[in-house]
Amino acid sequence: MHNLKHSENNDQKLENVRLLFDSILQGQRIKLGAVKNGEKWYSTNCPLPGHEDKKPSFNFNYSGGWTCFTCNKKGDAVHLAKELNLDPTPYYNSVLKKTGVDALPRFDDKPKLKLAHKKTYKYFEDYEYFKKTLSKDLYNNNNLALFYANKFGSIASLKLLENYLIGTDSDGATIFWYADINNNICHSKTMQYDSSGHRSGKITTDYYGIATENIKKPLYGEWIARKNKKAIGIVEAEKTASAMSVYDESKLWLATGGLSKLDQDSLEVYNRELNFYPDIDAYNKWRIQVESMDLNTQIYDISKLWTLNELEPPHEKADPVDYFFEHVEVRQDPDWSQDEYDSIFG
Ligand SMILES: [Zn+2]
Repeated sequence: MHNLKHSENNDQKLENVRLLFDSILQGQRIKLGAVKNGEKWYSTNCPLPGHEDKKPSFNFNYSGGWTCFTCNKKGDAVHLAKELNLDPTPYYNSVLKKTGVDALPRFDDKPKLKLAHKKTYKYFEDYEYFKKTLSKDLYNNNNLALFYANKFGSIASLKLLENYLIGTDSDGATIFWYADINNNICHSKTMQYDSSGHRSGKITTDYYGIATENIKKPLYGEWIARKNKKAIGIVEAEKTASAMSVYDESKLWLATGGLSKLDQDSLEVYNRELNFYPDIDAYNKWRIQVESMDLNTQIYDISKLWTLNELEPPHEKADPVDYFFEHVEVRQDPDWSQDEYDSIFG
């Protein structure tokens, strides 16, 4: 007799393998290749570290098999996760949903967020409101979300909006939620954007009644560092960090939220290489602060993104994503056929 339980587990495993490939290959063009032994194979640019693949030489199937002829490596989904320094466990063991805020494993782990330090520090208690602002339906009314969908395609943009806890308020303004490494929500910053993705109108920061002396100011994205062990790239603006996550997946991108002072205490939590990419006009100020820190740091003059390519930066406050928005195309899905889309994501 058919073993139902076994087949459910198997479906779950296939779904998890699919999630793993989707998350690793987001933003890349994926082409349907040969069918071997009834299994569809796809090809795309190799995601392995150190292989700048222009060809595409990486072949995979959604049962988890993959191979790169140039890297001379192959394996299953767990091997791939390990090659990329990802924790393979969730892709095999836990129940992940494909989209929606419930898909965030960090918050799935703890439906009610816990207090970090009961006496001195309080997280935002209105969890229902927090979840409501993250509703996917509201993105249709959120100019930054629409701008991302247009730039990156709907799949990659939804993933980044969810990863970075980007929500929408009742006026369609963008809410950037800040949480610390223990998933405590610390505060939110709300900004309005116009349809070209530029800031327009209000900027408010809400601390939800936390007393001033207890306010904690993690970098924007600190909570992602709990499970993501990549080297860290630090920029000024929340928008820049979230968008850079699509353009450069080799790093975990975080933002100071426009803080003028870099605080060594708030950087010690990461315990790994920190790479700073200040806006062009802040380079000298940041360099002095970064070089005075007793941490593993590198700082970059991002004006070189333009000058090395014999281009002029658009303005003196330009940040790295200004370069990528203008000069790098990553959008993956506008020219896909619906059939191809369905066969992969349907
Ligand atoms: Zn390769």
